[in-house]
Amino acid sequence: MEKMMITFIGTGGAFTPEYGNNSALLQFDNTNLLLDCGYSTPVRLRKMGIKETMIDNIWISHMHADHIGGLEEIAFKNFFQGRRINLFISRDIFPDLEQYLLATLKYGVTRQLAIADYFNIIMINKEFRIGRRTFKQEKTEHIGTMPAYMLFYNTFIFTGDTRFIDWTVRDLCGIRFIFHETRVEKNDNEVHTNLESLLSLPKEIREKIYCMHYSENIYLKTTAARINSQGMHIVEPYKAIVLE
Ligand SMILES: [Zn+2]
Ligand SMILES: [Zn+2]
Repeated sequence: MEKMMITFIGTGGAFTPEYGNNSALLQFDNTNLLLDCGYSTPVRLRKMGIKETMIDNIWISHMHADHIGGLEEIAFKNFFQGRRINLFISRDIFPDLEQYLLATLKYGVTRQLAIADYFNIIMINKEFRIGRRTFKQEKTEHIGTMPAYMLFYNTFIFTGDTRFIDWTVRDLCGIRFIFHETRVEKNDNEVHTNLESLLSLPKEIREKIYCMHYSENIYLKTTAARINSQGMHIVEPYKAIVLE
């Protein structure tokens, strides 16, 4: 099996753009897959030496701007190069995403353009393939009726945005990394996963958890020390992690 690596482009929560919108680049088999593409993702990718025209595949977890706001820029840059990225998108997200993107992308110089002029759209039910690799997605609960998804591969899970998931009742066989959205602050009307609930999980699960989509409070001395002493990890932007 060839190596697969993940590098976070940004790790910030929706209102912490200073760490970049939460997004990660998977690299494997001479190709790549961008997980989410927020409004700060394109400029941060360039800082990493990766141009928009080097992205082959994109997967989107849900419709919030910190996860999709960079798609227009990536679409235009690739369009001008005569290039189309594979956009893997859940069937129930696609109508919203198409409407959102076409509000600007439909205006061509000489004709009205469609989403297929910019992306190869690949609708997902439960799973999708890139070469010989199969990725799976599963619905999460995030906000109201908005469809939101997490992504699974042999060794890792990328939660996207989600409320608390009881990992103790899940089969985590083979899973070594759970890249988990983490809300440090307490909130009564919770649409994210509170840090306290992650800390309440058993040690063998905590050790797999890599906090992402966080606010600056995660780096408060006492908070960071607690996360580390409980065996959990904090993902930092631009540091590659070998997944297999
Ligand atoms: Zn978010
Ligand atoms: Zn969200």
